[in-house]
Amino acid sequence: MTPGYFPGNILFLTIFLAANAFFFYTVYKLYKIMLLGKPEDRFGQYGERIKSVLEFVFGQKRVLREPSGIGHFLIFWGFVVITIGSIETFGVGIYHNFSYEPIIGKFLYNLLYFIQDIFCAAVLVALAVALYRRFVIKPLRLESDDPKATKLDAVIIIGLIAVLIILLFGSRATDAQLYAKGEGKYFPPLAIISQILSLAFSGASVDTLKFWSTFFWWAHTIIILAFLVYIPFSKHLHLLAAVPNVFFRRLGPIGELSKMDLEDEEAESFGIANIEEFTWKQLLDLYACTECGRCAENCPATLTEKPLNPKYVIHHMKEHLKKKGELLIENKGNGSGEENVDSQGTGEGETEVKSELEKSLIGDVVSKDTLWSCTTCGNCMENCPVFIEHVHKFVDMRRYLVLTESDFPAEVATVFRNWETNSNPWGIGFSQRGDWAKDLPVKTLSEDSNVEYLLYVGCSGSFDDRGQKVAKAVVRLLHEAGVSFGILGVEEKCCGETARRIGNEYLFQMMAADLVETINGYGVKKIIVTCPHGYNCFKNEYPQFGGEWKVYHHTEVLDKLVRDGMLKPTKDINRNIVFHDSCYLGRYNSVYEQPRNVIKAIPGTVLSEMDRHRHKSFCCGAGGGRMWMEETLGNKKINDERTEQALRCNPDIIGVACPFCTTMFEDGLKAKDLEENIKVYDIAELLAMSVEFKK
Ligand code: SF4
Ligand code: SF4
Repeated sequence: MTPGYFPGNILFLTIFLAANAFFFYTVYKLYKIMLLGKPEDRFGQYGERIKSVLEFVFGQKRVLREPSGIGHFLIFWGFVVITIGSIETFGVGIYHNFSYEPIIGKFLYNLLYFIQDIFCAAVLVALAVALYRRFVIKPLRLESDDPKATKLDAVIIIGLIAVLIILLFGSRATDAQLYAKGEGKYFPPLAIISQILSLAFSGASVDTLKFWSTFFWWAHTIIILAFLVYIPFSKHLHLLAAVPNVFFRRLGPIGELSKMDLEDEEAESFGIANIEEFTWKQLLDLYACTECGRCAENCPATLTEKPLNPKYVIHHMKEHLKKKGELLIENKGNGSGEENVDSQGTGEGETEVKSELEKSLIGDVVSKDTLWSCTTCGNCMENCPVFIEHVHKFVDMRRYLVLTESDFPAEVATVFRNWETNSNPWGIGFSQRGDWAKDLPVKTLSEDSNVEYLLYVGCSGSFDDRGQKVAKAVVRLLHEAGVSFGILGVEEKCCGETARRIGNEYLFQMMAADLVETINGYGVKKIIVTCPHGYNCFKNEYPQFGGEWKVYHHTEVLDKLVRDGMLKPTKDINRNIVFHDSCYLGRYNSVYEQPRNVIKAIPGTVLSEMDRHRHKSFCCGAGGGRMWMEETLGNKKINDERTEQALRCNPDIIGVACPFCTTMFEDGLKAKDLEENIKVYDIAELLAMSVEFKK
């Protein structure tokens, strides 16, 4: 860029320093607010963390899962390229002859300008597409509960970037023309677009060109600085928070909830009741939200019009954090606690300040109905480009309601009691737990613990008629394949997964400790689990309690047995099977292929896929304890919605791999009087139908 011809470097420096001082002060305040959060160890594994940033921030991997992500990809990289160019622009403000050219050489300088030109043009196109999508197509995920403010923010940001680029081109075009007339500094001929645009100024005199060059430079610079000042106040705060948020993302299993310290005698309450009780990373999450709405796009609660939209929840918590955090810091500073409510001394601030400080996180910011509407399906987390962890926050708040307030849906009280007395949600006598296997070729570990696998069938496999059929199919198949395995029988207990997700961490920890002790008592090394919820719990959460085993879902084992030729599906099923991915198997544990492999191995089957499948699978509605709660809110039951999605594939069979999903689909089909025409079968049942049993 040619030096500005306006002798303004003092003026520029003053504006530049003021804008930066304001920007850094605002960011520092946000940083202090984040530090109000509790400690959490997200350090270590730095190689992996840097890789995450390269992959998900610079590579935009999650954003690019959809075609609309290309626009964001271009805007992001355009922004990076413009930022590199801005440093040169600022340099010109300080020293008028500043240029990258003597530093990097003519070739690289040309290349840089060429790339910048191309990106800037591409960003202009992407911005036009973004405006069209937001104001004409209006996709559901960009909806807002404060449409005016959101639209204004979008228009300001898109407008600022567009004007910024247009001014940059103006500046370059005049600089190119000046150089062509033998004035100013070297201008790269490879900046093709700028060169073409410069032709518009070919008739202008040198003085006119100098005037316009100066004008464009100043306007461009002022807009960059205005953008800088605006960022922390807009949703574009994510430009600052996304990189650290991805860097500090959870590297362990996403399906692992934190273990609460229930022995803490100092604790006045359990769970999260105030925004500042979250950890610093949970607060950083809030800053990082881009408000893209990907979390809501496939949220079963949002799509059935429950009072839960994960994007809104994160946004409301962010706004609450910013306001409350600022007040908490101010009050800490002068030691006056909540009494310091009116720093202006006008008397008017009192109501406003007090109301923000007194707002309850659960109730005023996030409603209880919102919290209980979540199925913990993990869709929001899986699709969030900046790795925000919604579910962990929801469960933390549920923990407060359950453990501190004893406030939970009435119907759950009976289930809690049943777990406490008989370790199953129905309250069936625990002594009947092993009855399902009485006539089957399987021993309990108490009879013979010298086996390779423990088969854990869970509450459904033990007590529910439908679940028992699946458990029996698994036993027959394992036996046929010659696998060495045993069960716990009457010693088996509920894994407690659902109690944990409802928020009853106390009950969960008791159940987990008990079950781990029993299993470890038999020296078990490998476990096959028939329920994805138990599978996730055993695999990802029981290590917190000393349960260090190799854990498999039965579909993983069956797939391997088929591939190894130990099980041979030979009988034709001749059916169109649509497979439903269970959230806790697919999204939480990446078991997508194995159940599909089994279906494909069965002769005569056609495997169909719903529009929402694999990482975008739609929850059946039973997770997060919703299985045991009435579903009275919204326009439709989640299982009805999912059943309708499955029916669009005209299936003969809905294939599942989870006892909860089985129940939800069977109920969905019953509600449509289709239970005689379309059947729901677990993968184990399907395989058992096709295998010619010899044993
Ligand atoms: S976990 Fe599932 S139900 Fe809960 S907010 Fe996320 S997408 Fe919605
Ligand atoms: S939480 Fe994540 S997916 Fe949802 S709006 Fe924010 S950035 Fe987008």
